[in-house]
Parts: sequence; structure tokens; C-alpha cells
Amino acid sequence: MTVPTDRSGADRCPGLLRPHLADDGALVRLRLPGGRLSTATLHRLGDISSQHGAPFVQLTSRGNLQLRSLPNPLTPQLISQIEATGLLPSASHERVRNIIADPFDETLPPLVAALDAALIADPLLAGLSGRWLFAVAGREGQVLGEPYDVAFQRLSETSGRLLVGGMGVDCAPEDAVAAMLDRARCFLLGRDDESHWNVRDLPPESPAFAALAPMDIDAAPPPTPGRHMPDGARHGAFVLGVPLGMLTIEQIDLLGRVADEVVVTPWRSIVLRTGDTGLDVFEAGGFAVAAHSPWATLSACVGAPWCRRTDTPTVELTTAAAVSLPIDSPRTHVVGCERACGRPAGEHRLVIAPRTVQEILP
Ligand code: SF4
Repeated sequence: MTVPTDRSGADRCPGLLRPHLADDGALVRLRLPGGRLSTATLHRLGDISSQHGAPFVQLTSRGNLQLRSLPNPLTPQLISQIEATGLLPSASHERVRNIIADPFDETLPPLVAALDAALIADPLLAGLSGRWLFAVAGREGQVLGEPYDVAFQRLSETSGRLLVGGMGVDCAPEDAVAAMLDRARCFLLGRDDESHWNVRDLPPESPAFAALAPMDIDAAPPPTPGRHMPDGARHGAFVLGVPLGMLTIEQIDLLGRVADEVVVTPWRSIVLRTGDTGLDVFEAGGFAVAAHSPWATLSACVGAPWCRRTDTPTVELTTAAAVSLPIDSPRTHVVGCERACGRPAGEHRLVIAPRTVQEILP
């Protein structure tokens, strides 16, 4: 098994108590198990971020949130303000509470909460890497397309399956939390090197894979922006794409006016259930609301004025370019310098330090 050579021991995933020092200041990542969050808490985070850092809250590819461009070092008062949102229930486990869940399935939140509570209760599990990922899926299994380490898929009230690295075994829902955490403990006890961060770093004979068999895993694609009516739901749901994964203060205000709770997805979108709000309201608020939106293929680093390594306003230029971008344009990532922060993994065009919108268009 080959582990990438750029790893040396423990990973450096940021949290609140161990922020990352980025070129635009301190960056804090806050875990949201299952992605659920009250709009009141989101509003509080938006306030804190706009007072002390960049005027947006960033969505990550694991359904977590980031505040950035914060003072370095963080002041004790700022740490207390963020702690007061209730998003840091455990100092020791803050960076390992990475749990994604299918956003529409209303049977999953109790399972996510039980997994989170049991995870926090075990001191051994604080040793997981910040890159470790739990997934909790329903029949659709949208999150099973993500690079999880250990997953549970609930197939009915009485049946489900435990999945580890593409293999699985039948598992009843009432046994799911214990089974997932057992595999995580097996991983920790079975690895012989701290640079093993994920189950895929272990050899196939590792106890973490014991008693598993290959299984067909049919992950539904991520939900596209627009209005949805999930199976069995009493009310429809909106999926709102968040351009560049940067949720502005105005957008947070809009969400707070129409819903008490939102779900942050791993696909840089927000799911919310609300009565009669029209899609046009969200579109006017700057969300992507159509399945074929230019934002599906556009991304950018934070750029100027927040990052000191550039004077290119990447967000401003990319937002202006989105208006003229043809549908089905190639995946494009816009950055302010050669560091190319946030560069996507797949094939893409990289546009470095553009001066005009035209340079971003294909
Ligand atoms: S790529 Fe963007 S965010 Fe990263 S250092 Fe360069 S300008 Fe800053």
C-alpha cells in the first residue's frame, strides 16, 4: 500500500482550537455532523466572520463551514464567541467529527446524532485523522459517492449495511453506530504509522476489513439545484447552489427569513424545506437554482482583497464571468497566484491572476 510521500505524521486539518494560517489570515473550520444547522446559528457565524474576517461563510466539500481572514493569533474573545454558537461540543474531538449524511432523508438525523455522541465519548477516537470521513446514507445513498472511510446505509427500519472501503456486510440500524465505531477503532489499532489517515491507506488484510465482502454500491448523484420532492416527504425541498461555496451575509439573512434550519451538503449547496417561497426569491438572492447553472463548472480561490499574495479580485471577476459563461463550459478554477489554492482534483482549466472577465471565459 503506497501512502503519499507528502505526509509526515499527523494531518494538519484545521479546527477552531488549531486554526490554519492561510495567506489571508487565520482559517477556522467548524464541523457540522450531518450538515444540519439552525439559521440563527448560521446568522451568528456570519456576524462573527464579517466583524473579524471575510464577509462570507465558506462551505467545504465535507459539508462543514469555514471562517477565514481572521486575526492571527485568534483572540480568546473571538474563540469564546465562536464557541458560544455551540458548534464545538468537544475540544479533544473537534477535528474528527466529520460525518456526512444524505440531505433529504429525515430518518437519518437521530443516527447521525447518536454516532456523533458516541464518537465524542471515546477518547481513543480523538486519534482519528481530520481526513477521516463517516457517511450515513439512506436508500438513495447520495453521500456514498464521496470518499468515506466507514459508512452505514439504512435500507429500511430493520435492515442496512456497513460499508468500508467499497466492501460491506449486512448490519441492522440499531447496530450501526457500534459497528461504524468498531471499524474506526480497528483502523487506529491496526495502523502502524500515523501517516495512515484513511482506511484506503491500509493493506487489504487489515482487521479493519475483516468479514466484509464486495458489494454493489449504487450512489445516487448529488441533488441538482432547484425544487425537489423527495420520496415520502410531506413538503418539498429546495436545493440552493452556493456560488464559489461562499455564503454571503445577505444570503444568510435570506435563509433566516424563510427557514429555521438548513442542511449544508458536501456539494457546496444548501437544502432547506420551506412553504411557499418561490425559486425566483432565491435566484434574486444570488443562489444557483437551476440544474444547469454556470456555477456547476466554476470555482475560485478567495483572492484579493482578503489574500495578501495577490491583488486579483478572483471572486469579483469570476462572479462577473458567470453571467456570460456558456452552459457546458469546461471546469474552470480561477486563482490569484501560482499556489492555486482549492484547485479541484479532476480535469480543469486553471486561470491564474486574470485581469479581465474575458480571460476567464473559455
Ligand atoms: S491561490 Fe489565491 S488564496 Fe491561494 S495564495 Fe494565491 S491568491 Fe491567495
